[in-house]
Amino acid sequence: MQLYDVILPLAIRGTYTYSLLDGMPQIDEGTRVLVPLGNKQAVGIVLRVHVGDLDTRVRVRTIIEVLDPLPILSNEQIALWQWIAEYYLCPLGDVMAAALPAKALDHHYTMADSTKRRVHLPSFAGETRSLQTLSPAQQTALNQIQAAWENHETVLLEGVTSSGKTEVYMHLIQEQLQAGHQVLYLVPEIALTTQLTTRLQRVFGNQLRVYHSRISDAQRMEIYRQQRLDQQPRLIVGARSAVFLPFTHLGLVIMDEEHEPSYKQQEPAPRYHARSVVTVMAHQVGAKVLLGTATPSVESRYNAEQGKYGYVTLKERYQGLQLPHIHIIDLQQQYHRREMYGHFSDPLVARIREELAHGKQIILFQNRRGYAPFIQCVQCGEVPKCPNCDVSLTVHMHTRLLSCHYCGHTQTIPTICPHCSGEVRIHGFGTERLEEEVKNLFPEARVARMDLDTTRKKNDYEDIISAFSRHEVDILIGTQMVTKGLHFDDVSLVAVLSADHLLSQPDFRSYERAYQLLEQVSGRAGRTGQQGEVMIQTFDPSNPLFERVQQHDTAGMYQSQIAEREVYHFPPFHRQITIILRHTNEQRLLYAADALHSRLRVAFGSRVTDVITPSVARVQKQHIRLINLRVEAKANIMKAKQLLMEQVAVVEQQAESKGTQIVLDVDPL
Ligand code: ADP
Ligand code: ZN
Repeated sequence: MQLYDVILPLAIRGTYTYSLLDGMPQIDEGTRVLVPLGNKQAVGIVLRVHVGDLDTRVRVRTIIEVLDPLPILSNEQIALWQWIAEYYLCPLGDVMAAALPAKALDHHYTMADSTKRRVHLPSFAGETRSLQTLSPAQQTALNQIQAAWENHETVLLEGVTSSGKTEVYMHLIQEQLQAGHQVLYLVPEIALTTQLTTRLQRVFGNQLRVYHSRISDAQRMEIYRQQRLDQQPRLIVGARSAVFLPFTHLGLVIMDEEHEPSYKQQEPAPRYHARSVVTVMAHQVGAKVLLGTATPSVESRYNAEQGKYGYVTLKERYQGLQLPHIHIIDLQQQYHRREMYGHFSDPLVARIREELAHGKQIILFQNRRGYAPFIQCVQCGEVPKCPNCDVSLTVHMHTRLLSCHYCGHTQTIPTICPHCSGEVRIHGFGTERLEEEVKNLFPEARVARMDLDTTRKKNDYEDIISAFSRHEVDILIGTQMVTKGLHFDDVSLVAVLSADHLLSQPDFRSYERAYQLLEQVSGRAGRTGQQGEVMIQTFDPSNPLFERVQQHDTAGMYQSQIAEREVYHFPPFHRQITIILRHTNEQRLLYAADALHSRLRVAFGSRVTDVITPSVARVQKQHIRLINLRVEAKANIMKAKQLLMEQVAVVEQQAESKGTQIVLDVDPL
């Protein structure tokens, strides 16, 4: 009897098995079907068709309906989903839920080719123009990339900010499209697609499709459907989730800003890294991968050094422009001399005035949204905390609320301390407070702010970025959203209001991250014409990080980090898996954590850390503990994962740990 194993979008391990009613047409693996599930119905995807004996003890239910005339998944996609589920230790149902537009889970939807009810994708009516001629340095890099692809699938392009990487990508894309291939171009942040889309559209016109979570689900489904059905050469620009689109003729994947942590999905599963996924995906079909960045991740730089990736560099800015000059401002000295205006030091204020007077634009970076990170009673020291999470509440003056950035809880801002009626004072500053100070200090300047709070609606990014591009705004204030990939002609000054919290993170990657971020944000300054200026305010000016940033010493940063990682058994020398345990009941959680920890110690010895209490140890009423497992890179990782899963399964069954959620994060960032 023909049996069909079906993936359902549920967090269960394994699949459900169904049969077909007599007379229904045969269906292939990868086809969408409507099946009974308990007393409900669900849309699933046939993973495997096989002949099995009818086991009379279990009742095999029949598929209700076959939803599409052809499979929604290609064989390569099925294989990729299976790789993701195995590698990242998660159910296929989780992969399904992440991979498909929501519409694919609706049984009223069909991919059948009827034009009615299909949404129209935005089309480009303007005239297209040809590519720019590459500079000799760019041409050399392009030739080197192509040569490196002869014996490497993946090439790392390390090109300083504004070296013209995007222009090189465009030449490579053109070649692929002309050969009838498809290209996937990944960016880490949706905010980046705005400028990039305009730039790419002028050359590639309607061959371009933009795919990310800000476009409507119906549009996402339509792009998916076109990719599945037609064989057009096409350029897809997208965020992380675009790796799940079907490609029939994939020739090249470009991953820009490859070092960006947002390429890794954190929550929920699958906790995949888009870089790993595209590597597998490209390997399946013989496509090439180009990783581009000014500041490679330690992992990728190491892979290049080991000869696993090809490696090409572009060391100069386009047209020989100077890299920005970096000025470090000692906040301690500034406060001591009382030369501060709010959170702005005297030299920074003077410099902003000067740039404004010259009709230049300025970017101010502060990696914290809201008005201030907390309030505190001057008398008893009380800081209002979230009732659901172990974090202080952020002040938002705009809404006049204290709000939790972990769970969204809000409450009104108290005027006096709820405990002792003492006076409350606002501490620290976020982008909102910065905006207020800027407006007071430079009343004549036009100011905009870009952070999560100002970009909640569909076109918000676009509006802010284009207003700044048209120079209708003089000063742009923002969180890390303003640091990456953006290009503005008139920005002459970038300031980092406080670099200190970048350095205080308890993470082995914090130094690398801080370097990348400062280098990236600096890269926004002086991209045309004169050398740009960067001012970084800090209480710790002698930190060696700043000298590295001043010298743009990416190689030195890498050398120091790779040495440390080897000594402490961190990636890439060891592979890391973080086991996250969560429960509302702390006792059950601690039992589970200890039980799992002892078992893992027996199985893996010193490769297992102690049970770790994270700095935010409770989120949405759930207590959290972590255990890290670090296995030698050369060891058999599949075997280690299997062993780990066996121990997890045992602990999940124990009554004392009942209800503990055990989540595995492979290659955590
Ligand atoms: P990156 O991606 O390395 O930051 P871009 O590709 O954005 O650099 O290039 C920086 C600036 O230089 C952009 O304004 C771009 O249009 C311009 N540019 C780069 N290469 C060329 C070229 N070959 N001809 C004309 N302009 C170029
Ligand atoms: Zn909370």
